[in-house]
Amino acid sequence: MLTPEQVKEVLKNDVINLRFHARGGQGGVTASNLCVEAFYGYGVCQPLFGAERMGSPTESYVRLSANEDLVRNNEQVYGPHFVSVLDPSLLGEINVTAGMPKGGWLIVNTVMDQASIQEVVGRKDINVATIDATRIALETFGRNITNTIILGALIRVSHLFTLDEISDAIMRRFKGEIAGKNIQAIKQAIEETCLYDLGIDIDFSLDTKVPWQQVKPGLPGYKEMDKAGVWYCDENIIPYGSSQVMTGTWGEWDIIWDKEKCTDCAQCWYICPDFAIVREKGDDGLWHMAGIDSFHCKSCQNCINICPVEAISKKLKQSPASCAVPEESGGE
Ligand code: SF4
Ligand code: SF4
Repeated sequence: MLTPEQVKEVLKNDVINLRFHARGGQGGVTASNLCVEAFYGYGVCQPLFGAERMGSPTESYVRLSANEDLVRNNEQVYGPHFVSVLDPSLLGEINVTAGMPKGGWLIVNTVMDQASIQEVVGRKDINVATIDATRIALETFGRNITNTIILGALIRVSHLFTLDEISDAIMRRFKGEIAGKNIQAIKQAIEETCLYDLGIDIDFSLDTKVPWQQVKPGLPGYKEMDKAGVWYCDENIIPYGSSQVMTGTWGEWDIIWDKEKCTDCAQCWYICPDFAIVREKGDDGLWHMAGIDSFHCKSCQNCINICPVEAISKKLKQSPASCAVPEESGGE
């Protein structure tokens, strides 16, 4: 298990991914939100609901890093380093360890022993932590609400935040006695969590992308950015990138810009998913609309729809096929 100092080092250049499995009504999404609120660096969380009803399996995802350029993905976490399971009945229903790298931590609310859990999930290469969160919840709240309690076990194995940090987040979200009870339950969970540590290091570089190429305000022209919406900071990763991919052949329309009507509002520039709006720097030192990059324009027509003065229009690239039956052949 990594020390708090080692976790801080990992977070400098990598993202740590979490996934929560719960049932509707158990508060898995709240748990993921609290992780982001308690974390000292940058984080995002996203929930995934299936059938939206009480008791149906839910998932929520968290990405955390000290590097803001790395926390930029709003999709599911496919390679979680830490997975928390709030309801043990999910172990047999959901592949809770899907995508988890060797050495990842599976945290389960259960009284089962860790070896049995490894048996159920079919993984011998992951670490397991267990906490009887249901008992703590019933004793503390009188209800089986385990979402904050599982965070105590998470603190114990991940060191992503401290008891003080999660307590602050809890107090911002809950009031009075409820906040106090949650903090007490988390503290108890930290003490009672059982660890089955195989001592295998996690590969934290999985599911971590290269940083964004930051685009600062100032509205640069398309020539200053990689084209077609694909930005690579390092040309050694993909030597040509989208400069060689003629996405313009995918569309069926020619997109036409009318310079006379254009008021240079830049709305089309913002909305174009392919950076196919050409802008050039004028003598006044400002960027101005200069045309459409037909090499990359896929004719999605976003720009046509957003242009407030109808300065962009479309024309079919080719006419419909002519009738296969020659007119003069006629019919009887
Ligand atoms: S139609 Fe407009 S918004 Fe769509 S790709 Fe072409 S230039 Fe961009
Ligand atoms: S949205 Fe229309 S008016 Fe605005 S810059 Fe684009 S073409 Fe010109």
